[in-house]
Amino acid sequence: MPRTRDRAATRARPDACPGAWRRHDAADGALARFRPVGGATTAAELRLLAGAATLGGSPLELTSRGSWQVRGLAGSTADDLADALRADHPDALLDVRGRDIPCGLLTSPRSTRLDGASAQVATALRGRTDVPGRLLIALEDRGAGDVSGQGADITVILVARPGDHTLDGDPTAALLLDGTDTGLRHPDPTALALAAVDAFAARRDTAWRVRELDDTTRGAVVADVRDRSDAVVVLPDLTPATADPTALGPRDDGTLEVLPRLGEVDAATAAALVGLLLDGVTLRATPWRTLVLRGLDDPAAAARTLDGLVETDPASRWRGLSACVGAPRCARSLADVRGDLAAAVESGHAGGTVRQHWVGCGRACGTPGGRVAVIEALDPDESLGYNMGASGGREQQRGIYRTVVRSGRVTG
Ligand code: SF4
Repeated sequence: MPRTRDRAATRARPDACPGAWRRHDAADGALARFRPVGGATTAAELRLLAGAATLGGSPLELTSRGSWQVRGLAGSTADDLADALRADHPDALLDVRGRDIPCGLLTSPRSTRLDGASAQVATALRGRTDVPGRLLIALEDRGAGDVSGQGADITVILVARPGDHTLDGDPTAALLLDGTDTGLRHPDPTALALAAVDAFAARRDTAWRVRELDDTTRGAVVADVRDRSDAVVVLPDLTPATADPTALGPRDDGTLEVLPRLGEVDAATAAALVGLLLDGVTLRATPWRTLVLRGLDDPAAAARTLDGLVETDPASRWRGLSACVGAPRCARSLADVRGDLAAAVESGHAGGTVRQHWVGCGRACGTPGGRVAVIEALDPDESLGYNMGASGGREQQRGIYRTVVRSGRVTG
C-alpha cells in the first residue's frame, strides 16, 4: 500500500495549512497565506499585500498553488491586513465576512471563459470546514493546456462535446481525479467541480488528497459524482497538460506573462504592476510562479515597463526554477537555498533546461506539481551530495545538495 494511504489512515489532526487568519509561526515571524480565486488579484489587494510584506521585511511571495504569502508579520499587523483585504470585497482574497476559500483553486490564467465558474466555485466553498486545505482544484479552458498539469486533486477541463468534431460548438466539462480522466462529462463546469468536492468530502475520512484514497473509495467517489450531478459517462481519453506551461513575454492576445525571480515580488515590482492594472487590465497569479496580465492594449510596452524588475524573456534561465525560503528565514533549513540557487544561475549551473525546486530540508515545502528535480540541502556532515560553490565550483563553501526527481506532488 502506498505510504500516503498509510499516513491518511493514521492521521488524527486536521491539516495545518496557513491562511489569512490561521498563520504559521516561522523563524522570521507569522506567515499568512492568501488564496486568490483562480489567481485573480486586484490592484488594491496587491498594494495591501506588498505593503504588509515590506513591513515584515520580506518580499511578497508566490506559492506553488498560485497563492500569495506574506512573511514576518506581527499579530496586529496580520489582523489589520486581513481586515483591509475584506474591505476590498467583492474581489476575491477574502469576502466581506472575512472568509477565505478553504483550499487551492486554479483557473486557466490567460482565458476569461472560466472566470465566472471559478467565482461560483469559490463562493460555494467559502466557510466549508469539511474541505481540507491541501485539496487543490483546477479549472482549465478548452485547449489551454495549463492548470491541468499542476497535480490538482479535482481538475475540470472544457472539451468538445461528445460527437462534436468541429470544435465550434459549446464545450462540455470533463472531470479528472488526481490527473486521471474519470470519463464523466457535464455541461456545467461549476456543478461538476462542486459535485466532485462534495463526493470527496463525504468519503475522504482522514484523507486530505484524492491520491490518498484507495481504489475502492476512488471508484465510490466517481459514482457519487455521477449521482450528484447527472453527468454522462464517456470513454476516458484525457491526459493532463505538461507541468510547466510558462510562456514568458507579450502576446498578440493582449496578455503578458512575467516571472518574478524565486516568486518574490518586491515593493518596486508591486508598484509597477499596480500602475499597469488600469482600465480593464487584470492580473492572475499562476501556480508556476509567474504573473499573467490580461487586457493590455500594448503588452510589449508593459513588458518594457517591467524590464529589470521581473523576467520577461521567454529564454530566461530563471524559467522553471523555484526554492523554499531556506535559511535564515526558516530555522529548519540546512542552507541558504535561495542564495545558492541564485549563485548557480549566475554561474550557468542551473536553469534553462530541467525544472528544479531547491529546498533546505526533506520537507520540500513549495514543491510544484508535475515532474521536477528537487535539489535538497543535506547536513554538511553528509558527504554524498555535491557542494554548490558561488561559481559552481568548490572555491566558496555553500550548501551540500542531492537531487531527488519527483512527480505529481504539490506541497506547501
Ligand atoms: S523545505 Fe525545510 S527548510 Fe525549506 S521552508 Fe520547508 S521546512 Fe524550511
